[in-house]
Amino acid sequence: MDADYPSSYAESRDRFRLSLGLLSSNWPSARLETHPLSADPSLSIDWVWAEPRKKENLVIVSTGEHGIEGYVGAAMLKLFSEEFAPRLNSENTGLLLVHAINPWGMEHHRKVNENSVDLNRNFVFDGNFDPSINPDYQALGFLLTPRRPVRPFALENLSFWGGVLRALLTLGIGRVSTATLLGQYHTPDGFFYGGTKYEESTAVLMNLYRRALAEYEQVIHMDMHTGYGPRYQMSVIVPPLETLSSAEFSRKFAYPLARKIDASEFYAISGDMGEYVYRLRQAHFPDKRLFACGFEFGTFGESLPARIRSLRAMVLENQLHWHGTLNEAAEQAVRREFKALYFPSEPRWRRKALADGRQAFEGILRAHRLI
Ligand SMILES: [Zn+2]
Repeated sequence: MDADYPSSYAESRDRFRLSLGLLSSNWPSARLETHPLSADPSLSIDWVWAEPRKKENLVIVSTGEHGIEGYVGAAMLKLFSEEFAPRLNSENTGLLLVHAINPWGMEHHRKVNENSVDLNRNFVFDGNFDPSINPDYQALGFLLTPRRPVRPFALENLSFWGGVLRALLTLGIGRVSTATLLGQYHTPDGFFYGGTKYEESTAVLMNLYRRALAEYEQVIHMDMHTGYGPRYQMSVIVPPLETLSSAEFSRKFAYPLARKIDASEFYAISGDMGEYVYRLRQAHFPDKRLFACGFEFGTFGESLPARIRSLRAMVLENQLHWHGTLNEAAEQAVRREFKALYFPSEPRWRRKALADGRQAFEGILRAHRLI
């Protein structure tokens, strides 16, 4: 295997559990907690609490909210534990490291969880999973949720591009791109489906965030994702509730690319986990300091053809899950493309991802005077 990037969920979880030994030298009381998944208890959400003597600062690194993205997430956990954790002051700074928020998705190389829910659309703060959000998604059913087995790849590709053309002509590019990213609560066999209630993983994480904000004065949260943004350049994604601009964050962290999540700079989403943490702070812990961001490791890139290729990968993988295929070559092509979108194997990509992760950890921890 690659020394940094695990090749299976089980291998990744073993490695994470072993990292407790490394952290214990700095935080002797560090402990592992685990939550077996009801649907399959052989899979679990695992996390380490490393508590300081004085609970002033807490650094959270969380991974695998989007299953398959957890492989890059695991590489970042390893990097953080080996290179950054030893530099923190364990007198007043603690850690919460989370392996595989969505273990089922990581094991099965899917982005969604065991109920086909996209967990980053499931952290709806007011608990209102509103089916009236994003009606354009339904209008684009012919493109986004074809309800039939996957045919040979070349044929699917042709009909996909036909669908794209039809979608662009009827709704225009702005509405099409919003409809395909916003999330939705009305089509359970579609993608970016946010569910009808809090998922098991969501409830576990909500408890952890509540505990973090209740116990510590300052919380710094970094959540790992892949798939969006320019290739070979990780973007630090800052929620819209922060007041500084993207350019100001970029300077503050000495990091080349910071972006705020809103319709103009990134994309608008509903039920986002980072935003949930901010709302939790606002509603129940207004005196606590919080900075929560996402690391987004871009893969296909940002050009229009690259974005359409990402959409094709999402549509076909979802179609394969629900309707299968009689064509083995098509199945392999669909899975290969999906993996290229969320966990590229190219050595140059993987090296650059580690370099970017290192630079962002350094900048963010320094800006908060933690190293
Ligand atoms: Zn993601």
